[in-house]
Amino acid sequence: MAKLFVICGHGAGDPGCCAGGYTEAERVRALGRRIRALGGSEVELGDMSRNWYADGGINRLDTDAPVVELHMDASGIATAHGAHVIIKSGFEPDDYDKALADKLSAFMPGRAEKIVRHSELANVNRAAARGINYRLCENGFIDNDGDREKFNSNIDELARIYLESFGIKVTTSAPVQQTPLKQPAKQATVIESFGGRYRCTVFRLNVRSAPSLSGSVVASYGRGQTVVLDDWYKSADGYIWGRYTGGSGKVRYIAVGRATGKPEADDYLVKE
Ligand SMILES: [Zn+2]
Repeated sequence: MAKLFVICGHGAGDPGCCAGGYTEAERVRALGRRIRALGGSEVELGDMSRNWYADGGINRLDTDAPVVELHMDASGIATAHGAHVIIKSGFEPDDYDKALADKLSAFMPGRAEKIVRHSELANVNRAAARGINYRLCENGFIDNDGDREKFNSNIDELARIYLESFGIKVTTSAPVQQTPLKQPAKQATVIESFGGRYRCTVFRLNVRSAPSLSGSVVASYGRGQTVVLDDWYKSADGYIWGRYTGGSGKVRYIAVGRATGKPEADDYLVKE
């Protein structure tokens, strides 16, 4: 049985807060994925293609597990920083809330209050009305350079804070991912897989025999041409490499864009 149900805030077209080239929706989904990967079957990850605030998902959520909803703050003031836990006004924090608040505020200090009570947040109120054990966590400020960098560079450490707070053992089999990988195109919103048809946006894009700049050039694509990539991808030499099988039956590799942790406007291949 799951010991933790994770909801990733925003999504389904709502990016949440945006700063430094990142969106809150994409970052909290990256965190949710690591919590699930490191926690295994004791973690249930709510459908990340949804916006649980907009679609009222908590009104229909059927779980006995405690629930945490992941967010990042933004203030417009670059100096505001730090993580905190939000619970319903009038409620007392339980042991999960206290553990999370202590660990999150030690990881990302800066907030005067580790636990804050709110009465106007829809999902906080929906959960309270249904007796769901729920808290909303702000994982620092996305528009604070220090918080954002801490989040991006230590996402597994952050994931472990959630697992430890809910008494879940970290599985050792999950590959460690300390730096943010470029996520599949539009993954932050609805499309979950990397594979699909991509359109070339540059004058000439090399096709290589291996997924790195040392692979020999065997063909090229021109602007406007399309290629269907499969679900595999890899980060190497500063680029994200996609893969397809050519007419010859040989596997070919092509740089999709710079490895920045997310899709960029200047990617060489853009998903159609
Ligand atoms: Zn948010």
